[in-house]
Amino acid sequence: MQINISNIPEEGLNLRFSKSGEWFHRSLPMGDDCGFCVQKIDVRCFVEKVLKNVSIKGGIKVGVELECCRCLKKFDFPAEIEFKYILTPADDLKKDDLELTYDDLEYSYYEGDIIDLGQIVAEQIVLQVPIKPLCNDSCKGLCSVCGIKLNIEKCDHETQQIIGPFAALKNFNTKKEG
Ligand SMILES: [Zn+2]
Ligand SMILES: [Zn+2]
Repeated sequence: MQINISNIPEEGLNLRFSKSGEWFHRSLPMGDDCGFCVQKIDVRCFVEKVLKNVSIKGGIKVGVELECCRCLKKFDFPAEIEFKYILTPADDLKKDDLELTYDDLEYSYYEGDIIDLGQIVAEQIVLQVPIKPLCNDSCKGLCSVCGIKLNIEKCDHETQQIIGPFAALKNFNTKKEG
């Protein structure tokens, strides 16, 4: 989804478009290996020229399938993302300015006459997806000894929730103390 800046009328441009999950994963450098699976994406936005800058405000509705980082269960994570961008012509910026970002307003730049809205949408989705997703805040995870799903079943092992690299550390400490 690209916009040619010379096609933006004075009163601005309202846009609605949808993208598939396949499109999203194709647009990422890591493809399907990003750790989550994006389903349908619906975008609405308002694009306006403000002098040489281009302002883009909008919202993205997206369904994402995530894997719980404790129990590895897959679950749906519907997200609504609001975004605002100010894009400045690249020629007008000094290198240092390119890194500027503010709380809920992203500053970026464009080169030539084309703005790639798809790239902005993909970037926003990547930013909003939780890095360590939980199916539930109280997810009990997996037993670090036998691997049983503690949300569903019980085992006789110590049920302390220590997972990942800390599991090994925990065993080490126990041995030392015992
Ligand atoms: Zn879980
Ligand atoms: Zn166990």
